Amino acid sequence: MSKRDYYEVLGVERGADQKEIKKAYRRLAQKFHPDRNPDDDSAAEKFREVSEAYEVLTDGEKRAAYDQFGHAGVDGQGGGFGGGGFGGGAGAGGFSDIFGDVFGDIFGGGGGRRHPNAPQRGSDLRYNLELDLEDAVAGTSVDIRVPRHVDCERCDGEGAEPGSTKETCPTCAGHGQVRMQQGFFAVQQTCPTCHGSGQHIKVPCHKCNGEGRVRETRTLSVKIPAGVDTGDRIRLNGEGETGINGGPPGDLYVQVAIKPHHIFQRDGRHLQCEVPINFVDAALGGELEVPTLDGRVKLKIPAETQTGKLFRLKGKGVKPVRGGPPGDLLCKVVLETPVKLSEHQKELLRQFQDSLGESNSHSPKKSGFFDGVKKFFEDMKP
Ligand SMILES: [Zn+2]
Ligand SMILES: [Zn+2]
Repeated sequence: MSKRDYYEVLGVERGADQKEIKKAYRRLAQKFHPDRNPDDDSAAEKFREVSEAYEVLTDGEKRAAYDQFGHAGVDGQGGGFGGGGFGGGAGAGGFSDIFGDVFGDIFGGGGGRRHPNAPQRGSDLRYNLELDLEDAVAGTSVDIRVPRHVDCERCDGEGAEPGSTKETCPTCAGHGQVRMQQGFFAVQQTCPTCHGSGQHIKVPCHKCNGEGRVRETRTLSVKIPAGVDTGDRIRLNGEGETGINGGPPGDLYVQVAIKPHHIFQRDGRHLQCEVPINFVDAALGGELEVPTLDGRVKLKIPAETQTGKLFRLKGKGVKPVRGGPPGDLLCKVVLETPVKLSEHQKELLRQFQDSLGESNSHSPKKSGFFDGVKKFFEDMKP
């Protein structure tokens, strides 16, 4: 396949200067850019073609070789260009470098490498927030202190001491990238002098040491909606790190975790608690006071209540943050053995015990249990 003349590709005169070449390239590359022509192979080919022409005609040495020998003058350079080519691999790297060089300021988030001075969105931040169960269920508002980087006020984010000037980096002439010749290959590298910014700060700002950004702790008031649970995230738009080179700020994510509660355990929208009960109430039935998140309520316990029995209080759980009916409160009654009994009380219990006799008819679990034990040992016999 014969290649078109590079000047023709860019539509410039043979004597065109760098400015004209750059201008022509910008116009054509914008027109044929893959982002604007998805799935269009001919546009992709044209884009490749203008990029290649631009690469050669903006490189003094290559342009001289091309002017003298035509395509043969630049194609045979040991794979630096023609052989390895633009298609993929190493060629693609060089390609995106020149792309970024000219287009970083136009296509903010496009493919390839960004220009060091291109606007970049700030990083997202995460804040871990521990909440009391009561606050999580009722909703609240909390002040959180968030450390983050913001533009330095003294230098307006420029990094240069006010009154001093920035100059174009002498090493890379403002490109942020330098070309290193390694054998036959020309490799692009981030400029070691300016670290890619393309600018050289003569007098660094006293406040930020030339970083252009300072660490600041800000207090934010965060509204916690009622019903949040461990694992929920609240997003605060634009409260993350400031953007770089005028890019938009990131977001702040408040990650919620609920602290353990001394009475209630939470299981989604349901709550659980244990309520102690004395064995007389359990046997005869009675009324218990149980805690809920909105205060105490009375719970009727039927006679012959066994330990571990669950009582469901409908609607006394948590109203979910994403809507829906509130959950329930599950009260588990736990039988309590009486302690610090007087001699008289002990005597009453012995009399009570005698009244039960040998029969297990008053102890449903016990009779079942000993039947099981008996069977267990019988099964073990050879
Ligand atoms: Zn500063
Ligand atoms: Zn530099």
